[in-house]
Amino acid sequence: MHPLAKLDHRHLWHPFTQMRDWLKAEPIVIVAGQGAVLRDARGREYLDANSSIWTNLHGHNHRRLNAAIRRQLGKVAHSSALGLANEPASLLAAKLVQAASPANVAQASRLRVKGASPPPFPASRLPHAGSPPALSKVFFSDDGSTAMEVALKLAYAFARRTGRSRRPRFLTLEGAYHGDTVGAVALGHIDLFHKAYAGLLFKTDRVMAPYCYRCPFNRARPERADARDYRKCNWECVGKVEQKLAAQKKRGNPYAGFVFEPLMQGAAGMIPQPAGWLGRATELARAYGALLVADEVMTGFGRTGVSPREGERPREPKLPGKPGLEGTLALPLFACQQEGVQPDFMALAKGLTGGYLPMAATLTTQPVFDAFLGEYSEFKTFFHGHSFTGNQLGAAAGLASLALLQTRASIGARQRLEQTLRHELQALWRHPNVGDIRQVGLVAGIELVRDWRTREPFDLRERTGMRVCEAMARRGVLTRPVGNVVVLMPPYCTTEAQAQRMVGVLGEALRRVKG
Ligand code: PMP
Repeated sequence: MHPLAKLDHRHLWHPFTQMRDWLKAEPIVIVAGQGAVLRDARGREYLDANSSIWTNLHGHNHRRLNAAIRRQLGKVAHSSALGLANEPASLLAAKLVQAASPANVAQASRLRVKGASPPPFPASRLPHAGSPPALSKVFFSDDGSTAMEVALKLAYAFARRTGRSRRPRFLTLEGAYHGDTVGAVALGHIDLFHKAYAGLLFKTDRVMAPYCYRCPFNRARPERADARDYRKCNWECVGKVEQKLAAQKKRGNPYAGFVFEPLMQGAAGMIPQPAGWLGRATELARAYGALLVADEVMTGFGRTGVSPREGERPREPKLPGKPGLEGTLALPLFACQQEGVQPDFMALAKGLTGGYLPMAATLTTQPVFDAFLGEYSEFKTFFHGHSFTGNQLGAAAGLASLALLQTRASIGARQRLEQTLRHELQALWRHPNVGDIRQVGLVAGIELVRDWRTREPFDLRERTGMRVCEAMARRGVLTRPVGNVVVLMPPYCTTEAQAQRMVGVLGEALRRVKG
């Protein structure tokens, strides 16, 4: 065994890993990376097909990101945000506010693809005459979980301070995952991960989330296509959201917040929402007085595509927005914007630094900020913070990453990669154990089933998803499944040939494991 692997076995405890299994085999020890390729201590090369657990955007060892971090390193690596401001954090906050601006929301909603949409919501019941306030304030933290903790605490305190609720309650989605710190776990609904900690958690309510492939209301027979395309339904899932909101209002304590991953639930199993669900569900939540808490930890920074979305035919890149300085473009970077949704809180992490450093941000509005203003002696301060809040190296990487995302070259590459994936994935329908293939932008989930005709799932104890991914790793492609769903989420720099190889190796691994 490689000496580094031995040290790992002796001392490390890995996340979400049965360590007894881990200790049975020599681990892959990564020592270098370039673009979409990772290299291990034995000199073997792998394609990073899940962007290092959904974090990496532009590829590893990126010249521009490296240079930005080096430049910052030559000045200062970190100084506290408690009592001090710093250059890159201020600049990054301004850029994030700009990227999340309502102008981009409006632009994106004009781009929306046509398709069957949920029943209209009577305009008379809509809460605002105008649009909701812009996201103009940024609270930095360390990772997706802390970004969600911050959103949760702010929403909770805001509801109490403004007299909206004395006991604020949150509505979240079935299958939700928002991180592993205790508050974030309370917002989640994956029993396998969360049940063991039930005694530590506060109560949140869950509502049905769209899962067209396994929807009890979908009367369509299984087909060799994304279940969103062939479903037959009456938008019962939207009705369920309204029922929950109405029932809670009747109890005299309307929900303080509606918490959701926009367009696609990641850890739930890469489950996309049919076009129109997000817009309608959030419209309802607002109408019933809930603040919108969008978890864009996975979906943010272009992961869900340049423009909408479901059922879209491959087409030549057509770039909306005006070229600005240095050929950059103002484009929607967040999933919410793709359905014209303007949340009150937006949690960002993973891709914020291009996937380089642990840094996160919670964006919120002026009214929320104002609720924490007062005389010192009133103690309205937001008593929350982390040692590395506003870290300069992370912020420098974030600035460089945002600049890259808005270049024509990056946008074009993302559009091409999305099309390549869509095209290549078609071949997997031939495999009898492929039940559903769900792609949103640059994220794909391939759900493996015992028999596609019945949708019968594999028992999780069989480790089918894991075994397929292990077989892929032996063939030089790295990814991790969520249960029986194999995830492909390549970095944006992935070439056409590399994307073809990722999908081809998945097909081979499937044939190997399942015959
Ligand atoms: N929210 C979502 C949607 C996520 O996918 C994740 C991580 N997979 C988190 C929150 C938690 O992020 P982190 O692991 O950085 O704490």
